[in-house]
Amino acid sequence: MKKWLKIVLISIVSIVVLLGGLLAGFIYKVKNGFPVSYETEKPALNIPQNQPAVLLFSKTTGFRHGESIDASKKMFADMAKQNHWSLYETEEGGAFNAEQLAKFNVVIFNNSTGEVINDEQKKSLEKYVENGGGLIGIHGSGDDSHHWEWYEKNLLGAKFSHHPLKPQLQKATLFLEPLTDSTLLKKLPGQWSHTDEWYVFFENPRSKGFNIIYTINGDKIIPNGNLLWIKDKNFGMGKDHPVAWFKDTGKGRTFYTSIGHTGEAFSKPELVQLLDNAIYWAGKITQQ
Ligand SMILES: [Zn+2]
Repeated sequence: MKKWLKIVLISIVSIVVLLGGLLAGFIYKVKNGFPVSYETEKPALNIPQNQPAVLLFSKTTGFRHGESIDASKKMFADMAKQNHWSLYETEEGGAFNAEQLAKFNVVIFNNSTGEVINDEQKKSLEKYVENGGGLIGIHGSGDDSHHWEWYEKNLLGAKFSHHPLKPQLQKATLFLEPLTDSTLLKKLPGQWSHTDEWYVFFENPRSKGFNIIYTINGDKIIPNGNLLWIKDKNFGMGKDHPVAWFKDTGKGRTFYTSIGHTGEAFSKPELVQLLDNAIYWAGKITQQ
């Protein structure tokens, strides 16, 4: 073989191996998150006694929705200021202990992905919710990188399948469900239109006893999956495709919405209102 041909072949093989390795690494990260060290030292908290308190947790070890996390942090800071809530914003898990969690009305998993807290910290959060605390999950916090049974059962109620890829972001109309809880319905429109990355789950959380706030018509989106070698992956939510839901969990409350892939979503008044309501409801905060 000619020397130049050998060099070309070796170069091509090296590039293919390198790209394959990078792709495998990316898929692993999305599915599982990379192992990380857990923060176990209790942070110094300064929460005024007379204010509702919210813990905004945006740690990621899996896929990171950077733009969305930045935009939502700003939105939640503004919301807290307006409502006179105390907001503790962190990407470290040190506050996930019984004593410090008890200081909060609500914990928000803000596009948090991967295994972000250790087993003991998970247990503390489970007890916190079952004893009356509120837990809210946004978009990426509903993917399948968490590997946490209690969380999947009580916050999500469904196992994540995939998100559409062609196109990834699609416009859909959201339909409000008739609910009796006025806290959650406050100022929400009966219909609104929004472009997002619509997560597809293997089950419908409605069948697991969750209450639905908003659905889209799942027959009107193109749900093709995000694994390149699986064509037309369309796991089954069908027409009734919830995008925001909630339930009582023990004495506490859990709320999840799959909305929130883009930073732009957090400037939509409808999403801001939905999350505002969710915090009041999950945190059992009395409306002023
Ligand atoms: Zn996303």
